[in-house]
Amino acid sequence: MSALKAESQTTNLPAAVVHPPLTPRFSPSAVLLFDIDGVIRDVGGSYRRAIVETVHHYSGTRPDPDAIDALKAEGCWNNDWAASLELLRRGGLADLPSFDALVEVFNGFYFGGDPEGDPNSWEGFIGQEPLLVSAEFFEQLSAAGVAWGFVSGAEPPSARFVLEQRLGLSSPPLIAMGDAPDKPDPTGFLRLAAALAGELGAAAAPVAYLGDTVADVITVQRARQQQPHQRFVSLAVAPPHLQGQEARAQRHRYELQLREAGADAVIPHTAAVLASLEQALA
Ligand SMILES: [Mg+2]
Repeated sequence: MSALKAESQTTNLPAAVVHPPLTPRFSPSAVLLFDIDGVIRDVGGSYRRAIVETVHHYSGTRPDPDAIDALKAEGCWNNDWAASLELLRRGGLADLPSFDALVEVFNGFYFGGDPEGDPNSWEGFIGQEPLLVSAEFFEQLSAAGVAWGFVSGAEPPSARFVLEQRLGLSSPPLIAMGDAPDKPDPTGFLRLAAALAGELGAAAAPVAYLGDTVADVITVQRARQQQPHQRFVSLAVAPPHLQGQEARAQRHRYELQLREAGADAVIPHTAAVLASLEQALA
């Protein structure tokens, strides 16, 4: 990001007035990091469906969406494999599968092919993920001087698939599963924030995170504890399966949980994030 911005700024100037930049790096006005699932793409028909079908595969029963939301509201079930296993455990299944066996079943539903293989060969639910923003959305953020990136618990092939192939972003700054401890541990979030903002602290640009779960909000709270002089903004949004008219009551409850967990603002949808960030920083 920083290199792109610096380049576009200097190439806009006539050659005769190009001076060496005063600072070696582009200083963003803000850093905005995104969760991916439920924020950049709708995973109601993919990851969430894979949880449902994995639980059904072992128990013969499909958990309803509220049961998944209630589990996620506890703030520590960001990993969908662990969430599936926990739903089976709470459902009273006598013979719980091993974690590895469950991962294989889950990925059969989700990827429907080799996760490390050619995405064109995948036949699973990953092919049914509506995008919630477009490439232009990120161009607008860059034009506003916002440096952006992604901190997600999704597996790297899945995260790269949506960012690079579906959205067409080139080498997006990304922390995915395995790059850092799972959220709400803030290690990955802080690492990417520092890479984009420079050294974190009172003098650094504000750092915001937009997520759709309690774990995302807690990630920012823990980042604050580690970097008390840095300005952080925790933005949250209800996931797409709660945005319909028929889910109004559930959405209200869900957004209340996000606020109670410490979200600074709950925004109506991802595309509204720039306006909401400007408001939060005003
Ligand atoms: Mg999410």
